[in-house]
Amino acid sequence: MSAAAFVLAINLFIAFIFATSFGVVAAYARSALGARWLAMAYGVGLLNPALEFVLPSQAEPRPVQVAIFAAVLLALALCVIGLARHYRINPPWRTLAAVLVASLVVNILILDMPRASLLRNVLYQAPYALVQAVGVATILRYRHRKSLDLALLLLFAASSFYFLLKPFLATMLGSGATPQAYMGSTYAAISQSAGAMLLMANGLVMLLIIVRDAMAEMSARSETDKLSGLLNRRGFEERAGKLLTTTLRAGVPGTMVVADLDHFKVINDTYGHAAGDQVIMAFATVLSATASERAVVGRLGGEEFGVFIPGANLSAARLYAEGVRAGFSGLSIASLGPDLRVSASFGVAQLQEGDSLSDLLRRSDAALYEAKKGGRDRVCVASPDLLTRREAEPTVSQRRRGSRRTG
Ligand code: GH3
Ligand code: MG
Ligand code: MG
Repeated sequence: MSAAAFVLAINLFIAFIFATSFGVVAAYARSALGARWLAMAYGVGLLNPALEFVLPSQAEPRPVQVAIFAAVLLALALCVIGLARHYRINPPWRTLAAVLVASLVVNILILDMPRASLLRNVLYQAPYALVQAVGVATILRYRHRKSLDLALLLLFAASSFYFLLKPFLATMLGSGATPQAYMGSTYAAISQSAGAMLLMANGLVMLLIIVRDAMAEMSARSETDKLSGLLNRRGFEERAGKLLTTTLRAGVPGTMVVADLDHFKVINDTYGHAAGDQVIMAFATVLSATASERAVVGRLGGEEFGVFIPGANLSAARLYAEGVRAGFSGLSIASLGPDLRVSASFGVAQLQEGDSLSDLLRRSDAALYEAKKGGRDRVCVASPDLLTRREAEPTVSQRRRGSRRTG
């Protein structure tokens, strides 16, 4: 077995491993849009080493020669499509199709040129370089590039350069007098080894990119409330907690607004749970549409919501809460009939030096309790006076917990 044949066997194995890996990812992570194409890419890529093994035994090598060329080109193109699909940008269908068709024609035309001809080798390798360059352009179109995407861009650029370099290597070293003699040439050994390295590096980085994004998506899903589309309690605590720390460190004001729908149990009992859900969705829409972009908005549980607004003082936050209150109580919700009005109560508290998220939530919850006690459909601001009373009186959620225990 020649050195080239040995590396070819390794290539076959690598392509098989990546085709399987991408296939498994595509089967398990529905959102991994690109993985299916990448599995196909490596599947088609498998044909290349397989056909190289078949070639020496062929009396008429031409069809197999063209198939070897086409398999690699198609595999590279499928990689670009997979990447574009994964990045959710339009794959460059037309460019790839044009390159594929033109390259195949050229490849057939150069078949009978002398194998040592530089022109033949350039025309043979240029399409590969071109498709890799289309890959680079595709990654450049992706706006949220991170270090792994950049690494892949560099790898694609290196591959493109490598394909441009190959004709010179082939002319210098000689790629065998006949297609059948190719396997025994030094050039074949070098070419197949470099191919193995690029195959592995590209596959690994693409797999890492897909796994990275699948994990980010999973984590975002675990922090999102399905009904309202807002952050759930876990997501809210995570984001608001971080933002609270940076707000304190920056020495700027910050405010918490908590809200609780009024007499929501009655709505549920009278109009049904589905109608209640619609009310929750409507409130969430007003709450997030009115909030500034920097604010963290979450559904803390049932019909309770929280908004942390960095940079806002009490009066700005109060204005915001008043806006939401007025907007929500002015809504007419289809499933409740045109005349019924819904409302919510709000508690607002300002961030203080040394506060933790739960300190701030506790103070705004106390203000919310005041709003409920004062007749609902209103905004109450936590005052130092309120803080003292908080010690003596239970907050809304403490009261709930108490009544649940006794009820
Ligand atoms: P208050 O004005 O004092 O806040 O009274 P309330 O009736 O709004 O408060 P209470 O805590 O007694 O009731 C809250 C209800 O919210 C009870 C629960 O069944 C309902 N709820 C919790 N989560 C959901 C949900 O996702 N969908 C619907 N439809 N109802 C929910
Ligand atoms: Mg309520
Ligand atoms: Mg409640």
